[in-house]
Amino acid sequence: MKVMKFGGTSLANWPRFSAVAEIILTAASVTPVACVLSAPATVTNNLLAMVELAENEQDYQPLLAQVKQTFVDMFEQAKADIAPAAHQHLYTVLEQHLAHWQQKLQGVQLLGHCPDLIRAEIVVCGERLSSELMVAAIKQAQVSAGVLVPQSLLLANGPILEAVVDIDASRQRFNLVDLSINRVWVMPGFTAANDDGVTVTLGRNGSDYSAAVLAACIDAACCEIWTDVDGVYNTDPRLVADAQLLSQLSYQEAMELSYFGAKVLHPKTIAPIAQYQIPCYIKNTFKPEVVGTLVSNLPEASARQVKAISNLDQQTMFNLSGPGMKGMVGMASRTLAAISRMQVSVTLITQSSSEYSISFCVPSADAIKVSRALQSEFELEIKTDLLEPIEMRHQLAIVSLIGDGMKTHRGVAAKFFQALAQANVNIVAIAQGSSERSISAVIEQAQTSHAIRACHQGFFDAQHYLDIFLVGSGNVGAGLLAQIHQQAQSLKQQNICLRVCAISNSRKMLLDANGIDLSQWQGLLADAEQDCDLAALYQWGQQQQLLNPVLVDCTSNDEVAQSYLAALAAGMHVVTPNKKANTRDYDFYCALRHAALQHRRQFLYETTVGAGLPVIDNLKKLQYAGDKLLKFNGILSGSLSYIFGMLDEGMSLSEATRITRDKCFTEPDPRDDLSGMDVARKVLILAREVGMQIELDDVVIEPILSDSFDATGDVETFMARLPLADEDMAAKVATAKAEGKVLRYVGQIDELGCRVRLAAVGAEDPLYSVKGGENALAFYSQYYQPIPFVLRGYGAGTDVTAAGVFADVLRALNWTREIY
Ligand code: ADP
Ligand code: ASP
Ligand code: MG
Repeated sequence: MKVMKFGGTSLANWPRFSAVAEIILTAASVTPVACVLSAPATVTNNLLAMVELAENEQDYQPLLAQVKQTFVDMFEQAKADIAPAAHQHLYTVLEQHLAHWQQKLQGVQLLGHCPDLIRAEIVVCGERLSSELMVAAIKQAQVSAGVLVPQSLLLANGPILEAVVDIDASRQRFNLVDLSINRVWVMPGFTAANDDGVTVTLGRNGSDYSAAVLAACIDAACCEIWTDVDGVYNTDPRLVADAQLLSQLSYQEAMELSYFGAKVLHPKTIAPIAQYQIPCYIKNTFKPEVVGTLVSNLPEASARQVKAISNLDQQTMFNLSGPGMKGMVGMASRTLAAISRMQVSVTLITQSSSEYSISFCVPSADAIKVSRALQSEFELEIKTDLLEPIEMRHQLAIVSLIGDGMKTHRGVAAKFFQALAQANVNIVAIAQGSSERSISAVIEQAQTSHAIRACHQGFFDAQHYLDIFLVGSGNVGAGLLAQIHQQAQSLKQQNICLRVCAISNSRKMLLDANGIDLSQWQGLLADAEQDCDLAALYQWGQQQQLLNPVLVDCTSNDEVAQSYLAALAAGMHVVTPNKKANTRDYDFYCALRHAALQHRRQFLYETTVGAGLPVIDNLKKLQYAGDKLLKFNGILSGSLSYIFGMLDEGMSLSEATRITRDKCFTEPDPRDDLSGMDVARKVLILAREVGMQIELDDVVIEPILSDSFDATGDVETFMARLPLADEDMAAKVATAKAEGKVLRYVGQIDELGCRVRLAAVGAEDPLYSVKGGENALAFYSQYYQPIPFVLRGYGAGTDVTAAGVFADVLRALNWTREIY
C-alpha cells in the first residue's frame, strides 16, 4: 500500500480536486492507496481568522460565508461528476458543519475566549470536508473508497494545537482495521485525538506529518507528498528563480531543511518515515509525470557539500548576559527548562565561550511567553545585577546551509559568511551543529531574500550578475548599450551575465528587472510611461533585491551626480564619465567615498579624465606602491586638442570650433571647452586623486577667449559671434609660430597649485605633436623622473568613452571589499 498526501494548493477548486482524483485512481490501478488530504487552500486560514474574530467579539459572519462559498462552489462544479445521492450527502455534511461552527462561535463570542479544544475542533473541519468530497469522486469511478477517521485511529499527546502522534499506540489501532475492504482510503490530514478523545491538531501545515504517521502505522511501501512544485529545491523557489530541483535527499538532510524553514515539508514529517525506513517522494500535482525528489537513506553518488539553503523567518532572539553567568552551573539548563515549560521549542542557540552570555532564537509568536518565563525564572539574579536585563531582538531570520557532505569539509563556513558579507548582510549570531550537517546564521529578516540569493549564487551559480541602471541615453549612453548588446553573448560564455534593468533619459525611464531587450530599447523607452524620477528609480532598484546593481550615469548633470549618495545607500555601485560629482565641494567628494566604503559598493569614474585611457587606475596603483606626484602636465581635452591641431595649420578659431562641434567632439555647448572649465575639472579630479584637498575655485583658469569677448546668449548666437575672436587668436598663433612653437591648452599641477592655460610649446616638448583629438598626460613622480610616466591616446569620442565606462562596469564585479 502506498500513502499519498495532497496539500491545500492541490485542492483549491474542483478542477484541481478532480485532477487529484485522477492521480489517485491511476495509482490505485496498481496498488491500494491511502490518501491524506489538506483543506482546500485558504480554508484553514479563514477558519482560524473566524475564531479570532469571535474571540474579539467582532463580526465573523462574512468569513463564515466565505468558507461556505468555497465549498458550495466546489460542490456545484462537481455536480455533473458525482451521483445525486452522494452530492446531496455532501451538502448535508456541509450544513452540519456550518451549524456546528455557528453554535461554537456564538459561545466563543460570549466568552471572549476560545479554548484550544474548541479551536481544534473547528479548524480541522476543512480537511474533513475535503475528504468527503474525494471519497465521492473516487466512488464515482466505481472504485471502493472510505474515510479513515483520524480521531479514532491516531492517538496524539502534547499541546492540543501542536500534538505529537504516538505511533506505537496508533499502529495497534490500525491493526484492528481491515484495510483490504477498500482500494482507496482517504484520511483527513492535520487531525488526531488525545487520550481523552479530544480532537487535536498536528500544527500548521501538519498534513505532511499526518501522511508520514499514516505511512508508519500501516507499513506503507512509500509515502508521496504531492504539492505545487516539482519537488524539493535547493532553496525556496519563490525567492530564487533559478533554484535547482534536488533529485535525492537523505532523511537527515530533509529533516534539517524542513526544520530550518523549507515549507515544502513539515518538520515533524521526516522522523516517522526515517524510523520506519519508508522512502518518501515529493511530487507535483500539476505535473504528475515529473519524478520529483526522493527522500531516503540511499547513498548518493555525487553529493555536493552544500545541498540546500533555507530560511526561517519571524524569529526573536533573546540574550542573557551578565557577570552571574560566568561559571555558574545550570544557567543554560534553567534557561532551556523555563522555555520548554512554555512548550516552546528553541530554534537556535549559541553560548559565548567566555560563558558571559547565552543567545537563542524562538519563533516571534512565542516571544512574549518566553520573555515572561525568563523574567520570572531569573527575577532574583536580575534584581541583584548578576544578570543584565534580558535583551530581545525581533524581526530576525535564520539562514541555514544544509548538506551531509559538509561534514569535515573545510571552507564552507568561510564561503557562507563571505557571501553574506558581499551582500552587505550583517550576521547577528551563528551556529553549527556538531553533526556538521547545517550551519546557520541569524540575520535581519528584511535582508532574507537578499541573503538567500547571495548564498545561492555563491554555492550553486557559476554566473556572475551585473544589473545595469543607465541614466542618460545620449551619445555615450547609447554607445554603451550598443556595446553591451554586442558583447552580452560572449561575456555570458565567461559566466558574466549582464542585464540592463533600467534606461532613463531626462524625461522618462524604462524599467525591467529581468533585463530590457537591447535590440529595441529606443522604441521601448519612447513608449515608456514612467517619468524620470531618480529617487523612485533607486527605490525600485532596491525592491528588486538584485545582487550587483550598477548605476551608470552618462549625463553631465549635476543633480544626477548629487544623487550618487542615495544610489550607494540603495546598494548600487556607481560608474560614471560625469565629472560633476568629483568636482563638487571637497566635503561631498569625501562623503561619496565614505558612502562607497560604508555600503561596500564601488564608485568608478575612470572615464572622467582621458576618456578611455587608464588614467585614474594607474594613478591609484602608483600611489598604492608609495609613489608621490611631483608635477603633472598634460592635454586633457580631446576637443581642444582637435581645435588647436587645426589652428597649427592656419585655420581660424571659429572654423576649427565649428568643424569640431559638427563631429560631436565638443561638449554640446562648446563654451564649456573654450572657457577652460572642462579641463579645470579634470585637473581638479587628478589633483584630488593624489591627495590635494582643493576646490574648483582653487584651479587658476586662463580662458581661451579674452575677457572682453562677449560669450553670452544661446549656443548659436555664440557660434555666430565667435569669428570676432579669430583675429586675436590668429595673432597668438603667429607669435608662437615665429618662435617655432605651437599653442596648446594644458593642465598643470605643481608646487604652485593647479592651473589650466594656453601655452606655446616648442618641438622639444612632448605636447608639441599632440593634436587631432589626442590626450597626453605626463606624470612626474618620485619614481618617474626625470622621464615622466606618460599616457597618450584618444581622449574623446563616443566609442572609446563608452568602452571605458564598460570596463568600469565590469570592474564592479570585483566587489569584495573589507568593511570600513
Ligand atoms: P501544500 O499546500 O502542498 O502543503 P505548501 O505551500 O505547504 O504546499 O508547500 C509548498 C511550497 O513550499 C512551495 O510552493 C514552495 O513555495 C515552498 N518552498 C519553500 N522552500 C522550498 C524548497 N526548498 N523546495 C520546494 N519548495 C519550497
Ligand atoms: N490545512 C492545514 C494548514 O493549513 C494543514 C495542512 O494543510 O497541512 O495548516
Ligand atoms: Mg504544506
